[in-house]
Amino acid sequence: MTDTLPRTETAVLDHWVGGAPWAGTSERTGQVFNPALGTVQKEVRFASREDVGQVVDAASAAWLQWRDASIAKRQAVLFAFRELLNARKEELAEILTAEHGKVLSDARGEIARGMEVVEFACGVGHLTKGAYSENVSTDIDVYTLRQPLGVVGIISPFNFPAMVPLWFFSIALAAGNAVVLKPSEKDPTAANWLAGLLTEAGLPDGVFNVVHGDKEAVDALLEHPDVRAISFVGSTPIAKYVYETATANGKRVQALGGAKNHMLVLPDADLDLAADAAVNAGFGSAGERCMAISVVLAVDSVADEFVAKVAERMGGLKVGDGTRGCDMGPLITGQHRDKVTSYIDVAGTDGASVVVDGRDVEIDGDENGFWLGPTLIDNVPTSSTVYTDEIFGPVLSVVRVEGYEEGLGIINASRYGNGTAIFTNDGGAARRFQREATVGMIGINVPIPVPVAYHSFGGWKASLFGDAKAYGPHGFEFFTAEKAITSRWLDPSHGGINLGFPQHD
Ligand code: NAD
Repeated sequence: MTDTLPRTETAVLDHWVGGAPWAGTSERTGQVFNPALGTVQKEVRFASREDVGQVVDAASAAWLQWRDASIAKRQAVLFAFRELLNARKEELAEILTAEHGKVLSDARGEIARGMEVVEFACGVGHLTKGAYSENVSTDIDVYTLRQPLGVVGIISPFNFPAMVPLWFFSIALAAGNAVVLKPSEKDPTAANWLAGLLTEAGLPDGVFNVVHGDKEAVDALLEHPDVRAISFVGSTPIAKYVYETATANGKRVQALGGAKNHMLVLPDADLDLAADAAVNAGFGSAGERCMAISVVLAVDSVADEFVAKVAERMGGLKVGDGTRGCDMGPLITGQHRDKVTSYIDVAGTDGASVVVDGRDVEIDGDENGFWLGPTLIDNVPTSSTVYTDEIFGPVLSVVRVEGYEEGLGIINASRYGNGTAIFTNDGGAARRFQREATVGMIGINVPIPVPVAYHSFGGWKASLFGDAKAYGPHGFEFFTAEKAITSRWLDPSHGGINLGFPQHD
């Protein structure tokens, strides 16, 4: 490691401002756990409103230079960053596993999906091109161009400590903005590591900053007059709050919220492939993914067979320390594990049956880790909180339906609309589904339909507040403001007085 990167023995993680760690003035800190051990491994600073103000000032000053950096210069920094990230991704994967708990292979996958957006952002030259119309009126041309916004705030969740920041800051920086990232306080080290790497890649100091903290830091960003835009990812209640507060403060906002993703299994589906998909998408990253499948809608005629196939596969999953080649790691905190477990506790009372109980799982890891094994709950009534709440853990519910219509009705009645999938061999049913489901991202025999970097990512309904999705074309639109210029180069024939509204001739 170079000395720009935070050392792992650091007891208190600082903010990152102006190209270097910064302690700030606040005395408040939070604890960062190692979820596989159940121990506190470091503390992280919690910024005060004044601290955030200083960080925004640093970013504002740096932006005055960065906004004038040529496209070629910005691309060069991003290319260099991509190369460094690719060369050193294993270090980052280890940080993710140590603080989030996800298994190493999954941490590598997270980095790959984030790096994809860095590669996309390198195309900034093409993606921010304007349009030109010559001679719209005699000797008058109209053209548009896209300019950076200024300082933008990114507030990210615990479940993707590298990928989600990469989705947003790569495009924000490419477009010429300065960034203040407020990562999750639960696994904050990845943000500083990425900041160090951006510095090494040649990004001028102050253009990318990290401020750690909780609600106080978030509120300070939402209300700061020099922060032009907010990209938020997290749970729905906070997304709604962020959207309402930041728009009330005149900011451009995209706030991605929670999810409850359904997978509809029709009788003609390949049940083995569908069962593989349900297990992978239900229990990968211990179900702590906004695109996890949390409900399978199984058509009655095949439901028994499907549930048996899923349960059989779950028996083969190894739960334990993410560094030991297991399939699934711990949950993020003991408190979250207990909350997820409480849903298994009420399932029976609500009339559902627990087919595989994660409370009994055998662990390959320290007994104090925040463990809960994969859990399968069948016959879940849609009135149960097991169905209605976003559980965000390794709990897969099965709701039995009569057929396509009932399944679609349940999906469309959900308050969330992030992702959904249909498993079928009937092209007509799949085509109807893609047209009729009121959900932002659809999978056809694909359980986690996260679009590639050059298409945008985002849900509908309570899964996204605002108009712009993440990355892809939406990303560049969000992080730039369009300007239209009407131009005429004068010659003597253009003289004369005319108070009428401009018309074209
Ligand atoms: P969270 O809402 O608790 O936290 C997200 C961010 O908001 C964090 O940086 C946190 O510090 C901050 N925050 C928390 N409470 C706050 C408050 N009262 N006021 C202001 N800021 C506050 O979410 P989480 O638990 O970190 O992440 C999991 C959630 O994120 C799930 O609901 C998941 O579905 C969602 N998520 C959604 C997407 C998506 O693309 N739609 C992607 C990833 C995660």
